[in-house]
Amino acid sequence: MPMRNDHSKTLFTRAQALLPGGVNSPVRAFKSVGGTPFFVERAEGPYLFDVDGNRYIDYVGSWGPMIVGHNHPKVLEAVIATARNGLSFGTPNPLEVTMAETITRLMPSMEMVRMVNSGTEATLSAIRLARGATGRMKIVKFEGCYHGHGDSFLVKAGSGALTFGVPTSPGVPKALADLTLTLPYNDFDAATRLFDTCGAEIAALIVEPVVGNANCLPPREGYLQHLRELCTRHGALLIFDEVMTGFRVALGGAQARYGVTPDLTTLGKVIGGGMPVGAYGGRRELMQQVAPAGPIYQAGTLSGNPVAMAAGLAMLELIQAPAFFETLEAKTHALCDGLEAAAREAGVPFSTQRVGGMFGLFFSAEKVDTYAQAMACDTAAFNRFFHAMLDRGVYLAPSAFEAGFISSAHDDAVIAATLDAARAAFQAI
Ligand code: PMP
Repeated sequence: MPMRNDHSKTLFTRAQALLPGGVNSPVRAFKSVGGTPFFVERAEGPYLFDVDGNRYIDYVGSWGPMIVGHNHPKVLEAVIATARNGLSFGTPNPLEVTMAETITRLMPSMEMVRMVNSGTEATLSAIRLARGATGRMKIVKFEGCYHGHGDSFLVKAGSGALTFGVPTSPGVPKALADLTLTLPYNDFDAATRLFDTCGAEIAALIVEPVVGNANCLPPREGYLQHLRELCTRHGALLIFDEVMTGFRVALGGAQARYGVTPDLTTLGKVIGGGMPVGAYGGRRELMQQVAPAGPIYQAGTLSGNPVAMAAGLAMLELIQAPAFFETLEAKTHALCDGLEAAAREAGVPFSTQRVGGMFGLFFSAEKVDTYAQAMACDTAAFNRFFHAMLDRGVYLAPSAFEAGFISSAHDDAVIAATLDAARAAFQAI
């Protein structure tokens, strides 16, 4: 039975008159899965509540940051207490120092850090730094990886850009796009060949160490090490875009999980606890080149915002609880094992990938770990499954090319309810 959605429909009509596509970020519009997006009034723990009074179990978690569930009292208290003292000062504040100390302690490859306001800002700033520091102009990215909407990254990009089949957006200067070289993820030889051909011109290679914008693709054994070695050998910087994976696949991010040290790291989402935040950082001698310590310019009126810092710090405190990530990962396994079993019972070709608190759902009988395989999955089946789950009160990412996220608030009962819905949904499709 489809949910009631009269109020969402009315809002979407009003929104479409004034916001492009009715939204402020493309994937939210349900364009690839079809139908009307629901408008959320409030959220609590694992649940979203929409304007029509429906409740959904949420596996999007604001696209990653709600790792302790929505509206966690500790995060909320920190935000309210900090907001009482003022919302923005435009001067240094103590919380940004604590944040820098916390991030650099949890991710030691980040010897210094600069706070920004989004993941997009973090990646843009990181490649400017890479280009400025190396004096080289080419960057390498992977097909299906998404690093925000900066011009240099909208080349064979994932996430919304993938969903809409826009490999390179109009408006990106060709001269700039020509400086972005792309590689197939998890292909060892292609990377070696590219660096052998033009390694001396490459400023940086940027990668989502676990790809979360072309569904969820973990690195093959030794792949990140291979990229590290190529960058070192050719004098290019290795940038891990951990906007999704940071504080999500392990406390120390993908770099801790796979034991590979990047030169620069970009972060977002999770370190804001739901507030608009990003950060980039890395080796001290690189970060010392950022203004005003050095000549590479980058700035932000609201960067280091006290309320955002307070939310992020409260979140980072919570995820340092003993066994937080072991427990989170066990939940992801319970969910994915259960989904695979339900698909098997219904005779639907289906597989999953999971890393820490993120997971991927593939309508394919084989294990998927490349972009080409992800693209070959049955998108129509995913779309039917998405709606069958939504009708049963479970919200999955509204695109076959996005990772899913679980939170510590998803308890056994919530996962069991999800699997009940999935058994019916797999049968229905
Ligand atoms: N990098 C990655 C890996 C991302 O997943 C995203 C957003 N999904 C970004 C960068 C951009 O972050 P934002 O949307 O905060 O600009």
